[in-house]
Formats: sequence, structure tokens, C-alpha cells
Amino acid sequence: VNLLQYPTGTPLAVPAPRTILLRYHEVALKGANRGWFERMLAQNVRKLLKRALGPDAPVEVERRHSRIVVQAPWTPATQQALDRVFGIASYSVARPVATELDAIAAAALDELKLHVHDHGLPKSFRVSTRRSDKALGNSSMEIDRELGQRIQRVFPGLQVKLKGAEFTAGIEIREGTSFVWTRKIRGKGGLPVGTNSRLLALISGGLDSPVAALKVLRRGSPVAFLHFHGAPFVGEEVLEKVEDLVRIVNAYHPVPQPLFVVPFGKIQERIALATNPKLRTVLYRRMMFRIANRAAEVAHAEALVTGESLGQVASQTVENLAVIDEASTLPVLRPLIGFDKDEIIEEAQAWGTYEPSIRPAVDCCTLFADRYPAVRTQLPQLQAEESRFPVQEYVEEALSSMERRKVPAR
Ligand code: ATP
Ligand code: MG
Repeated sequence: VNLLQYPTGTPLAVPAPRTILLRYHEVALKGANRGWFERMLAQNVRKLLKRALGPDAPVEVERRHSRIVVQAPWTPATQQALDRVFGIASYSVARPVATELDAIAAAALDELKLHVHDHGLPKSFRVSTRRSDKALGNSSMEIDRELGQRIQRVFPGLQVKLKGAEFTAGIEIREGTSFVWTRKIRGKGGLPVGTNSRLLALISGGLDSPVAALKVLRRGSPVAFLHFHGAPFVGEEVLEKVEDLVRIVNAYHPVPQPLFVVPFGKIQERIALATNPKLRTVLYRRMMFRIANRAAEVAHAEALVTGESLGQVASQTVENLAVIDEASTLPVLRPLIGFDKDEIIEEAQAWGTYEPSIRPAVDCCTLFADRYPAVRTQLPQLQAEESRFPVQEYVEEALSSMERRKVPAR
């Protein structure tokens, strides 16, 4: 074969069949967990691809020797769906080929010819072989060298370059069928959703809470959502905003999760009338956590998640976080505790939650709040204030008016 037979721009013959090869970080896997992890990942891939491509799209997902192999049309929607599956480290469009050196070499050469056709002759290339078993006998290095030589016989000018090569012939040797790929696309990483316990995220409409929810979702925990609404003192805009944010987070959920809404304005008003203004912010938050603990039972959640970060506002000092936690039986996860606002903004922009989050709307937290809330509150002080209003009655009232909303994925 001569390069001149493959001038850039000439249509090529029949395209070879392609599959999509998904990789995950094996280090995260401990023995017996592996099958379970793979099954969950495969299931999530199937669900998100079906959602993106339609229920009738030809989608097949198969587990094979520490890889997941997907048969599906390769479209921008496919790539977008795969970019939303937590647990994928990277993926490649790959050409399946019989596990024989000649067949693999022919496929690798074909891929290179396609590359030359589309982008011109590269300056450098490398062969990168990985074997899952002893199939083929030779070591990965021997295969790299052998295929490299065969490629250079066809394209004599091509330099081998192990780092930063312009063209990579990636080879995955498997018993029976092997794969040849040329481009690795980075996945979102993390763990497959469903491999960790369900959580309930307190979501406000601000910048922090949606990012916090995505952080734990990426660690494998499905998250339902809880919003405290300042009605009747706050309008509907904030609810639209919260729903928009939930829609974005739900795009990463194989099964979209519900949003619970609790009307909280009337409760805040009565607490405000009965208590010391400096302590209100912390008192409201203790009420939120009590109600959230009960809502978590309805949502089957094992812990709460908030967007708090250390020292960001008066209620987020160590002392105040401690007394707020005291009102919660369930553990409270705060994935953003060590994040700066700049870092949170960067994350929000990357996830696409930034725009809805900065839309103006009043959060109930600022209702009836003092301009200078107490920075270091003590439990006895708060308990004295809480004896001035019927805590338990308000919790029950909040729960009886809690509403469950379905929010589809965006
Ligand atoms: P955010 O950007 O998420 O609004 P924030 O920096 O404004 O956070 P606060 O308003 O003090 O901080 O809220 C801290 C956390 O408490 C939020 O991240 C969220 O988890 C929870 N929270 C606050 N307001 C509400 C609300 N109205 N409904 C549900 N959760 C809330
Ligand atoms: Mg807020």
C-alpha cells in the first residue's frame, strides 16, 4: 500500500463495524465488589443511553473482561450520555477484531489509513497494547514492537514517539475478540450511581447546594432533594430555579430523583416573633435539619447533604455547624467544606448549574434574619430559645404540608 492511494479527501470503502469500549478505574474495586460494580455501571450506561437515544434505539451493553462493551449508534447524543455516566474513567470508539496478530495488524493499519485520509500523514505514532489475559502468547511490549514495525513497512517515514505521538494505535487483547482504538475520551470518573447509599440534599437555589449534590452523586450515592420554600413571603421564581437545578443534577441520575418542597415561611415568622433575632439564623437551620431528618425517612435516605463551607457565612463557623448538627440524628455530609467560593463557581460553571443559580430570587434563609447573626452560639442558649415555641408541632406541620414533585432530567 502506498500513501498516494489514500489522498486526503477521497471517500473510503465500507466503514468497519464499531463498538464503544468503556474503561473504569480498577483500583477502586475490591475482589467481590467487582461484579456488582460492573453490573451497576452497565445498567446505568444502558439507562442513560436509552434516555438519550430513545427507547427503541439499538443499544446493547455487555460486560467483558474488566471492560464494558457497548453497541450503539455513535452520535453526539451518545457521547453526551456517556459523559454523564459516573464510574467511567475513559472510553473509545473501537474496532472489534479476531485475536490474531495478522487481523489486529490489518485493523491497526486500516485505522491509520483512515487517519491519513481525514487529517493527513501524522509525524509520529505509537502502538499501545494492553492484555487482559495470556491470549496471543507474546508480551504487550513484543506486540507493540511487532505492530510498529509492520506499520513502518507501509509508512516508512513515520517516527515512533512514546509520549505525545500524533497517532495512537491502541490495542486491547482479549480472549476471542480484541479491540483497536485510536482516541481515548475522558469520562467523568467517580463511582456508578447506586453503589453507595441514598442521600437527601438540602437544595436552596444558590450556587453551593447543587454542586454539593453532584459531588456525592459522583461518589455513587443517588440523591433526592429537599427545598424549604419561604411561602407565602417568597414568590414562585425560586421554585422554578430549584427545579431547573434539580433537572441538571437529574441528568446524571440513571433514575431521576424527586424534589420535596416544604413551605417554611410561616414557621419562620412564628419563630421570629418568639426568639432573639441574633439567634434566628441558627434556630431556622436547626428546624430545617429536624424536618429534613423526617423527610429523609420518606425519601429512604441515609444521610443529609448541604452546600456549607467553613467560614463562608455566620452560620458556617465550627461552633454553629456543631449546634446545627446537634439537631440532626442522621449524619450531615458537607462535600464543599474546604472549598473557596471561586472553586465552587468554577465547578458550577463546569456542571452547568451556574446560570440558574445566579438568577435572582429570594431564599427563605434571609427571611426575618438579623443583619449580624451570632457567630458562635451555644447549645443551652439555643435550647432556651426553643422552649419559647412548639418545636415538635412545627416539625409535624411542615411534614404534613410537604409536597413531592417529579422533576425529569434535562
Ligand atoms: P447555597 O449557595 O447553596 O444557597 P449558601 O452559601 O447561600 O449556600 P446558606 O444559605 O447558609 O449558604 O445555606 C447553606 C446550606 O443550607 C445550603 O448549601 C443548602 O444545602 C442549605 N439550604 C439553605 N437554604 C435552603 C433552603 N431554602 N432549602 C433547602 N436547603 C437550604
Ligand atoms: Mg443560600
